[in-house]
Amino acid sequence: MTTAIVVGGGPNGLAAAALLAKAGLDVTLLEAADEVGGGTRSHEAILPGLLHDHCSAVHPMAVTSPALKALDLERHGLRWRLPDIDCVHPLDDGTAGVLLRSVQDTARMLGPDGARYRRLMQSSVHRWDALSHDVMGPLLRVPSHPLLLARFGLPAALPAALLARIFSTPRARALWAGVAAHSFRPLSHPLSSAIGLGILTAGHAAGWAVAEGGSHTIAHSLERALRTHGGRIHTGVRITHHSQIPPADVTLLDLDPAQIARIYHDRLPSRVRSAYQRFRRGPAAFKVDLAVEQGVPWTNEHARRAGTVHLGGTLAEVAQAERDINLGRMPERPFVLVGQQYLADPTRSVGDVHPVWAYAHVPHGYDGNATEAIIDQLERFAPGTRDRIVGLRPTSPADFAAANANFAGGDILTGAKSIPQLVLGARPALNPYSTALPGVFCCSAATPPGPGAHGMCGAGAAASALRHLGISPR
Ligand SMILES: Cc1cc2nc3c(=O)[nH]c(=O)nc-3n(C[C@H](O)[C@H](O)[C@H](O)COP(=O)(O)OP(=O)(O)OC[C@H]3O[C@@H](n4cnc5c(N)ncnc54)[C@H](O)[C@@H]3O)c2cc1C
Repeated sequence: MTTAIVVGGGPNGLAAAALLAKAGLDVTLLEAADEVGGGTRSHEAILPGLLHDHCSAVHPMAVTSPALKALDLERHGLRWRLPDIDCVHPLDDGTAGVLLRSVQDTARMLGPDGARYRRLMQSSVHRWDALSHDVMGPLLRVPSHPLLLARFGLPAALPAALLARIFSTPRARALWAGVAAHSFRPLSHPLSSAIGLGILTAGHAAGWAVAEGGSHTIAHSLERALRTHGGRIHTGVRITHHSQIPPADVTLLDLDPAQIARIYHDRLPSRVRSAYQRFRRGPAAFKVDLAVEQGVPWTNEHARRAGTVHLGGTLAEVAQAERDINLGRMPERPFVLVGQQYLADPTRSVGDVHPVWAYAHVPHGYDGNATEAIIDQLERFAPGTRDRIVGLRPTSPADFAAANANFAGGDILTGAKSIPQLVLGARPALNPYSTALPGVFCCSAATPPGPGAHGMCGAGAAASALRHLGISPR
C-alpha cells in the first residue's frame, strides 16, 4: 500500500492526512502536542465547563472551504453556528460599523456608503462558490474564472487605507480597517486589502460561523474523518530531525519553513534551505481569555449581539496601531479582536458567566504584558467590563510559541503576509507546496492560501502529493 506520513496535526495537517487517506493511502500523522488541533484547540481555561478557544474562533473561510466540504465533516460531528450579527466595529461616539450576513442589509446599515459597499462586494459574494476555488489556492496558476478573479483581485491589490477612501463615513472606514487589519500588515501597503476582502466575501456567502462545542470540534471531526479512512495518529512526537520520520512514499509537513530548514538541514538544496531560513515572520498576538458575568456591557447595542467585535477606533487609529506593531513598537491602544462565540453557541457558558476571547496585535516577540491594554480597550467601548470579569488567563507571544512551534515569536499567521509571501508562500516556486525534495511537501499556513482553519493549504499539498504519486483524488 502507498504510505504517507504527515508531521503536525493542525487543521492543514489533519485535512491533508484525511484527504490522502480518503484517496486510499496508508496515512500516519505525528503530532508534538498531547492532542491534535494546533490552532483549532479549545480548553476550559478558567472555570470548569467554561469553554475558550485557544486560537481560531470565527470561521467564515472554513464554512465554505472546498477541503472541509470534501471531507463531509458534518457527518463527523461538525456543526456551524451563526451569531445574529457577524461583526461590529464601535466608535467613541457610540455609533458603529455593523456587518450583517447579507450585503444588502450591511449596505443599509452603512447609510450614505451603502451603495459603494454593495458595488464592492456584490458580484464576488454572489459567485463565491466559483471564486473560492481560485482564491483559496495557489495564486500563480491559470484561474478557472479569470474575469471573476480579476474583479476580486483589482481592489484586493490596493492598500487597505487607499480602498477605504471609497467610503465617506467614519463608521464604514473603521469597519473596513478592522477587517483589513486581520492581515497584521500596515494598511498603507499594497495587497493589504486582500485578506480583508477574502474574509468579507466568504462571510457574506456563509456567515462568521463558530463551531458548536468549540473550535476543537473542527479538529475532532477531521480526526474522525482520518480514522474512518484508516489513518493513524501518534501524539507527543516532536520531530527535530528527518531521521525521526519513518520512511514513506510521501511526507507532508504542517510546519513553518524555519522548522523544515532545521529538520531537513543536510538534505534540502541550499537555495531552498536559505529561502526557508529567510522566511519572514510577522507581528504577534497577545491574548486574554476572560470569564465575564452577564457578558460585556457594550455601549453600542449591536455589539451586544455580535459574534466578533473589533476595537481600535477610527481608520486612522487602526492604521497607526498596525504601523507601530510592524515597526516593533507596542501601541498604547492596540487593535483588539473580541470573540463572543457563546452568543451563537450557548453551550460554552456556565450559567450567567460567559467566555470572552480577546487578543491584541502586538510586535513580534513582544515580551510585555498587554492584559491591561486589552481591558482598557474593552472599557473604552463597554464601560463597566472590568467589574464583570470573574477570571482571566493571558496567553503571551511566548506562550503561543511554546504551545505550537509554528507560532514562533507569537506570529499566529505562520509568516508575515508581505507581497511575496502572500503570493508565493514559503519560497518562490511554481508549486508552492514543494520542498524540492522528491515526495516531501509543506502543507502549513505558510503556503497558499495562507492562515485560517480552512484546511486548504493541506488540500493543496495533498493534491501535489497525489500528482507526484500518479494517484487521482477521490
Ligand atoms: C489567537 C489566534 C486566533 C486565531 N483566530 C483565527 C480565527 O478566528 N479564524 C481562523 O480561521 N484562524 C484563526 N487563527 C489562525 C489559525 O489558527 C491558523 O492559521 C491555523 O491553525 C493554521 O493551521 P496549520 O494546520 O497550518 O498549523 P497549526 O494550527 O499551527 O498546527 C501545526 C501543528 O503542528 C504541530 N507541530 C509543530 N511543530 C511540530 C514538530 N516539530 N513536530 C511535530 N508536530 C509539530 C503543532 O503542535 C500543531 O499541532 C488564529 C490563531 C491564533 C493563535
